[in-house]
Amino acid sequence: MVASGLTQACFDPRFSDKIPHVTEARAAAARGEDTASNAARDLRGLSLDELEETVVAAGERAYRARQIAHWLYRRNVDSIDAMHDLPAALRTFLNHRFTLPPPLVATVRRSSDGTRKLLVRLADGQAIETVVIPAGNRITLCLSSQVGCAMRCAFCATARMGLHRNLSTGEIVSQIVAARGELGADEILTNYVFMGMGEPLANYPRLSQALKLMTAPWGMGISPRRITVSTVGLPPTMARLLAETSVNLAVSLHATTEELRDRLAPINERYPLGQLLEACSRLPLRRRSRVTFEYVMLAGVNDSPADAVRLVKLLAPVRAKVNLICFNPFAGSGFHASSRSALEAFQAILHRGNLTATIRESRGRDIAAACGQLYAEPHPETLSQ
Ligand code: SAH
Repeated sequence: MVASGLTQACFDPRFSDKIPHVTEARAAAARGEDTASNAARDLRGLSLDELEETVVAAGERAYRARQIAHWLYRRNVDSIDAMHDLPAALRTFLNHRFTLPPPLVATVRRSSDGTRKLLVRLADGQAIETVVIPAGNRITLCLSSQVGCAMRCAFCATARMGLHRNLSTGEIVSQIVAARGELGADEILTNYVFMGMGEPLANYPRLSQALKLMTAPWGMGISPRRITVSTVGLPPTMARLLAETSVNLAVSLHATTEELRDRLAPINERYPLGQLLEACSRLPLRRRSRVTFEYVMLAGVNDSPADAVRLVKLLAPVRAKVNLICFNPFAGSGFHASSRSALEAFQAILHRGNLTATIRESRGRDIAAACGQLYAEPHPETLSQ
């Protein structure tokens, strides 16, 4: 399978000695292998077909699977016993074979701009961050796909963690359940972006199952048009994602020359800019849809008028729009955000080149919840819990 090959490639063994206490099991989990096949599975993560197989194995009628899916993906229950319209024998059967770990929100930090950062504690003690971002009449949820990341982008705080492991499907969708639990009565999530920790396409099998659960009518019923998967640029899996789903794709570009992209996003050594853009021009896009190219504006590094002119040329063969991202600084990054005037001059050149280009203002910066600031480490307030 393409994706598992990629997952393996993305788990860079050179990282394992930099991550303290990387065990064989953790390394295997990072490669996406199931290390505990006898362990109870997470029930939240099963598709309708798998739920049907399960209820039939329990000697029940297939329609029970839809009831379970409703409890899991619409009602967000966190115990099998709460599914009170199921026969007691079926609940016992499920309790013996599955777990339903509640998403534990260890802390919630609130930004002055309304952004909320949830530190979600996983069953094995690791933590990920999930961010709720209200803006106008939208509330966007920024989801993580891995604990840490192996992509080593030079300007990203998560990269400093290295890759600890892939999230399971259940852990990916549990972030939505956790976020819903933190919303006010009048708040509804409207958009979902995979721009939190990790490289979603390096965890493709679990991402793809999560997208299925999120979008299926028997699942969460979210329109795929409201979901965006952001990637550092893994062409074979990008094509697969667009062939298999109708979600939106965002590609993190950040540079207009091979040399600079090698430095900013080392995956460029494996999938060079030229190859990436060629692949983007051949993607099976929906009618009228475009690929969003993300471009973090770094002062004196990639923000000159010459960069903007090159970007216009590079993107000419692609159905593209550009999202200029204000760099969110973190200690020791060695980069600085571009000035407002550099940002606007850059945007103006893209507009003159007929490229739609928006500026993504930073959100939640005061609580380190902004793009590239996600770095889960023990937060002092969680230590006593
Ligand atoms: N791995 C995926 C998704 C996670 S990062 C990807 O690379 O797209 C989501 C976005 O945040 C990416 O465009 C990434 O380049 C950007 N980003 C990372 N660090 C940042 C920082 N410090 N400031 C602003 N944006 C950053």
